[in-house]
Amino acid sequence: MTAPIDRAPSERAGVEPAGGEPAAGGHAAGAPRDAVASFDRMWAQLGALGRSPETGGYRRFAWTRTDDDLREWFLGECATRGLDVVEDRAGNQWAWWGDPDSTPGVVIGSHLDSVPDGGPFDGPLGVVSALAVVDALRAQGLQPDVPLGVVNFVDEEGARFGVACAGSRIVTGVLDADRARSLTDVDGVTMAQAWRAAGRDPASLGPDPEAVRRIGRFVELHVEQGKALALAPDGSEDLTDPTRSVAIGTDIWPHGRWRVDLPGEANHAGTTRLEDRRDAMLSLADVVHATRSSAVRRGCVATVGKVHVQPGGVNAIASHVTAWLDARGQSAPAVRATVEAVTAEAESLGGTVREESWTPTTDFDAPLVGRLRQVLPDAPLLGTGAGHDAGILASQGVSAAMIFVRNPTGVSHAPDEFATDEDCHHGVAALTAVVTDLCSRKDADAMGDAR
Ligand SMILES: [Zn+2]
Repeated sequence: MTAPIDRAPSERAGVEPAGGEPAAGGHAAGAPRDAVASFDRMWAQLGALGRSPETGGYRRFAWTRTDDDLREWFLGECATRGLDVVEDRAGNQWAWWGDPDSTPGVVIGSHLDSVPDGGPFDGPLGVVSALAVVDALRAQGLQPDVPLGVVNFVDEEGARFGVACAGSRIVTGVLDADRARSLTDVDGVTMAQAWRAAGRDPASLGPDPEAVRRIGRFVELHVEQGKALALAPDGSEDLTDPTRSVAIGTDIWPHGRWRVDLPGEANHAGTTRLEDRRDAMLSLADVVHATRSSAVRRGCVATVGKVHVQPGGVNAIASHVTAWLDARGQSAPAVRATVEAVTAEAESLGGTVREESWTPTTDFDAPLVGRLRQVLPDAPLLGTGAGHDAGILASQGVSAAMIFVRNPTGVSHAPDEFATDEDCHHGVAALTAVVTDLCSRKDADAMGDAR
């Protein structure tokens, strides 16, 4: 076991709760006042970065000037806390309190990038909360027995290069380095070129087993991307129940993407009789309706959110439509059955459906989830239909789990995404309580045994 790092004489070894404000009633009622103040300060600072004045949404895309500002902000916050930051071979930033090579550490954090016109919480809430946890531990005079890491994963949303969780996929080797380097954005810029423009050497991009080995446990705090916590068990809206301010993530639903190609015949929109047309857009309409009805029947969610129409003229009948189907659900067979029904519809129209990606159910680490349940006994358990870096790590055998913070609007990936100040502070308190538990010497020893 590692000896605690000497930071300040006032800091005591071990993380047994002392003097601070421990978890109460299962929702970890209070974070120390200093940590709340620091959370509020960081949140206000970050709010200005990458926000579009026209839409009010955030445009924080990987390896852009805005991304660089966000990474600089992260470096600055870590520097003020005396944390060493290392960048791995995927471009993720890891700030360490303690020596990460002494023993695998406990890592918290999330990502700072966004979807086009995204909300303020998806990602940044987890990073800012993690930094506030460091402040909370110090305010209570606690020092972790194992290294504590705060991570900013790069390119989680995949908004620029089209692959979600690119940072965690590259570092774990799930995304092949050559493929990553050759991914292009809408302007035809490859990830390799974007790396070079951002002052990195694209030749060094690739898996980084050493960075992954340093993660003993990973807990990602994230805004909820639906309304489960905002609704009482009877279905009515209840934003006051303190035991529902945070939830413990249990698993990520199986999900996938499919490409649908539908043929038609180009012709004049004014002179071609309706009965003579082969209109690919009509086929698309049938496929979209089939998507909806087959998902409803099987309790899944399925979406056609992107289409490409050829030739794409206002006065031309569509000769070809390519559409992309996203399907998810609690049960993998139900998702598969939904896609089979859509495929049957597309094939009956002369079209084809091709799978582009499939991710089976990702269960978070059961013993880790069990530890979170002990620390937060009243917090509901929640599966999610959204992908996360925690899911990529879990799929690669890293012990990972998540904490979700209530979102009254239920909206995500849009400016209306929301969490109240009070619930954000509850989130910091909950994460502090979890880290306090996981960074205890007892757990650290158990973690060493498991390896
Ligand atoms: Zn996210």
